[in-house]
Amino acid sequence: MAEKANFKCLRCGHEFTDSYDPKVMKERACPKCASNSIRRMKEK
Ligand SMILES: [Zn+2]
Repeated sequence: MAEKANFKCLRCGHEFTDSYDPKVMKERACPKCASNSIRRMKEK
């Protein structure tokens, strides 16, 4: 099952939530600047 995870764009700093499935390595892009330099943030 996919879970929600927080992502942060390393280019513009925009933070967003997207579904994350460890089995599916899907290419992600920042919804704001379209950069693919995305870092997943740990849930607290
Ligand atoms: Zn961005």
